[in-house]
Amino acid sequence: MPTKITLTEDEVPRQWYNLAADLPSPMNPPLGPDGNPVTPEMLAPVFPMNIIEQEVSQERWIDIPRGILDLLYRWRPSPLHRAKSLEAALGTPAKIYYKNESVSPAGSHKPNTAVAQAWYNKEFGIKKITTETGAGQWGSALSYACALLGLECKVYMVRISFDQKPFRKTMMNAWGGNCVASPSMETHAGREILAKFPNTPGSLGIAISEAVEEAVSDPTGQTRYALGSVLNHVMLHQTIIGLETKKQLKKAGIKKVDTIIGCAGGGSNFAGLAFPFTYDKINGADIEIIPVEPASCPTLTKAPFMYDHGDVAKMTPLLPMHSLGHNFIPAPIHAGGLRYHGMAPLVSHAVEEGLMSPMAINQLECYEAALLFARTEGLIIAPETSHAVAATIRKAKEAKEEGKEKVIVFNLSGHGLMDLYGYEKYMAGELRNNELTQEEINASLDQIKDQPKAFVKKSGRW
Ligand SMILES: *Cc1c(COP(=O)(O)O)cnc(C)c1O
Repeated sequence: MPTKITLTEDEVPRQWYNLAADLPSPMNPPLGPDGNPVTPEMLAPVFPMNIIEQEVSQERWIDIPRGILDLLYRWRPSPLHRAKSLEAALGTPAKIYYKNESVSPAGSHKPNTAVAQAWYNKEFGIKKITTETGAGQWGSALSYACALLGLECKVYMVRISFDQKPFRKTMMNAWGGNCVASPSMETHAGREILAKFPNTPGSLGIAISEAVEEAVSDPTGQTRYALGSVLNHVMLHQTIIGLETKKQLKKAGIKKVDTIIGCAGGGSNFAGLAFPFTYDKINGADIEIIPVEPASCPTLTKAPFMYDHGDVAKMTPLLPMHSLGHNFIPAPIHAGGLRYHGMAPLVSHAVEEGLMSPMAINQLECYEAALLFARTEGLIIAPETSHAVAATIRKAKEAKEEGKEKVIVFNLSGHGLMDLYGYEKYMAGELRNNELTQEEINASLDQIKDQPKAFVKKSGRW
């Protein structure tokens, strides 16, 4: 039984998988301010056209350009590990595997799409990319990618993380990126929020407004915006995770996977692992697919599926997704990358179809799981990733009670070496659960009740 299963560079998939081609019911289109579907031309000031084409593509398989493969080879293929020590500690008959995306230079799955997006922007003649970042993972991944391709990078970092994780900013600077705390005084959107809420911890929704505003207001037209999650093309780029995993499980002699688990903020690392297995499920396989979110930001488990903006200033189109409302500001939990009010439309749609079974877990159970993982497998994981580990532990215990030798695979989305402050607080007994009450959810949803309803014509197969 191998401890870790590797692939050669030759074995890295040459195409991404697009779930949009296989969804059993049609997706709702994004809507513009007039309530009509957005056209590619309307998105052109924000994204380069080659990325917009990917965003709306219905092709099942999309070739990975040679130039992007060469960038991915710097750390890919990533290893798949068997969590033997965790299994032993839990006394479970389950076989637990994890795909280790923490081996990238920035320490998470995010460079998979960062290098692809930077490459497409460069191809299109763009000189500068703006973005937002929550915990700092996306900002550092994009700074890294821009450094490889000689592009300028500007990052709006959510204030709470900017204060809690100063070294993430240092990483961005080391790769040549420019990072400011959001809300900032540099944009209209930022100044407006600061005037109303001078002490706000910030949110991804606010930071996105600032980054989009800077991109679309560059008079030279050579700046575009990049999003690290949520959109279809980001999910697409991340599917290399699940496609590699399938090859690795085959090498390990695994014929049937029972459970796929990933933590879900905007949905990209989860989708990256899960979509290639969702393809199998659509084609008849019996697989349980679980996105895991924080109980303090329960988008998939408690929020409705509807049309909402991706940001506070309503700069983005209305997207069909599970959303707590674009004004929602989650509790300042340490899993900064999971503090997003919405969820990828592709993931939201698949959940509506019944293809996925979301789960919400409180912060304390997640940190407990992270410490058990550190003390068995040895890796100190990101607070975001701890949600996937906590769910894996629940499932492994269930398998023990049922006496079943299940195969569980989760995505280790990133390491936690830049997140030790949260670990310190947890070990000092200073963290609390911040489970959201129904009243708080209702109050936030009340603000978006007049927005259009989204609707999935369910196939009824799951
Ligand atoms: C950003 C991030 C997440 C959450 O984002 P998704 O798009 O939901 O994957 C999860 N884990 C890590 C380590 C991250 O950096």
